[in-house]
Amino acid sequence: MLPMHNEEGSIPALFARLQPVLERVGLPYEVICVDDGSGDGTWDMLLAMRARNLRVKLLRFSRNFGKEVAMSAGLRQAGGRAVVLMDSDLQHPPELIETFVARWQAGAQMVYGVRQDRATDGWLRRTLTRAFYGTLDRLSEVDLPRDAGDFRLMDRVVVDALNAMPERTRFMKGLYSWVGFRQEAVPFEVADRHAGSSKFSLWRLMRFALDGFASFSTVPLRMWSWLGLAVAALSGLYGVWIMAKTLVYGVDVPGYASLMVATLFLGGVQLICLGVLGDYVGRIFTEVKGRPLYLVGESHGLSPRQEEARS
Ligand code: UDP
Ligand code: MG
Repeated sequence: MLPMHNEEGSIPALFARLQPVLERVGLPYEVICVDDGSGDGTWDMLLAMRARNLRVKLLRFSRNFGKEVAMSAGLRQAGGRAVVLMDSDLQHPPELIETFVARWQAGAQMVYGVRQDRATDGWLRRTLTRAFYGTLDRLSEVDLPRDAGDFRLMDRVVVDALNAMPERTRFMKGLYSWVGFRQEAVPFEVADRHAGSSKFSLWRLMRFALDGFASFSTVPLRMWSWLGLAVAALSGLYGVWIMAKTLVYGVDVPGYASLMVATLFLGGVQLICLGVLGDYVGRIFTEVKGRPLYLVGESHGLSPRQEEARS
């Protein structure tokens, strides 16, 4: 299952490498490509690929819905006993699928690729990614394996479990881990992008990170009660101290600076806390609206199953 967004430069090379691997594996297969609202020649190229090999099945979104949604759509469409997810830019070596399948046949229910180094990412992205996964690991109920991405094989039971998740904010890395099952890691070297450039800008990665936090942790919501408790306790003590001082030494004019600092600080904290609340409320709103996860523009070899996108 391949999510694609403006990947015309990679498609010929991708299929040239993928096809022999799939033939070697020797099991019946289908290649599901989800065109996530590409604006280039991706779709026409995919149609040409399907004309040559009917096992290539195509789904085209009505617009760009994002990689996580594209993967969710592909998983819903996939009918096999196992499903392999991979990027379409050849950063994930197709040859590894053979190893995945061997591990799966040996009993693993999910086999995921772990990248050996992140040299293909810039320094900033590497640092921020590490910080993000470290924090999320500590704050959330899920264990995120380091350096594991979307390159993985999943057994039917895992796919069914993922498909049954109703949430609209689909932070897949969290979901993979949340479902559990027998998981195994396989190390691999990430290649350079075959063509084009990454679709994930820093800003988009930040939003992605926020989605991850909000979907798998309620600590950002709850920590304010602890801060509130601490501030209340401290100000209680301070109040006693001021009263005692006033009783003993009489009334003096207390500092303007301390008042200002306390007011501004607490004002800031309250705004942050409101912002966090607002973020979660916004997410509840998105879930409650119950819009479909994606809309299908066109499909070949697959049933559109629009209703399923809604369930
Ligand atoms: N992708 C997608 N929709 C998007 C952005 C990306 O389907 O909105 C696909 C893209 O075509 C590729 C995969 O997701 O197959 C990974 O994207 P990319 O290589 O840009 O991300 P990176 O490797 O930098 O994490
Ligand atoms: Mg990539």
